[in-house]
Amino acid sequence: MTGSRRAVAELIASRDGAFETADLVADSRRRKLGVARATIFRTLELLVGLGAVERLDLPSGAHSYVRCETTRHHHHLVCIRCQRAVDLEDLGMTAIVTEVERRTGYKVDRHRVELFGLCPSCQAATST
Ligand SMILES: [Zn+2]
Ligand SMILES: [Zn+2]
Ligand SMILES: [Zn+2]
Repeated sequence: MTGSRRAVAELIASRDGAFETADLVADSRRRKLGVARATIFRTLELLVGLGAVERLDLPSGAHSYVRCETTRHHHHLVCIRCQRAVDLEDLGMTAIVTEVERRTGYKVDRHRVELFGLCPSCQAATST
């Protein structure tokens, strides 16, 4: 990794939860890193390719990114208010995929599951 790519990787590592490209651009400006926007985009794509970051399709139609704790297959649970994210293990999806294959005759070789909602602290903030 080049110095600027490493700087972008560090910005991502210091992010808590899901983030957008614009957040990284703002972080980079704030820290006066002088990293070009194009470098941020390219580094993000590189990390997505490596499985260190995942691209999320938000219910709003926008995209954001989330850092992955593991490169093993997993799902994401994202708070739509504070963007805090949790990596989830398969949680029964393997059984669902097997059932889908049985019913349709398809051979499923990948799936993505993204869950969105309110985290416990945002629920608490809403109810008071
Ligand atoms: Zn992930
Ligand atoms: Zn939240
Ligand atoms: Zn899965």
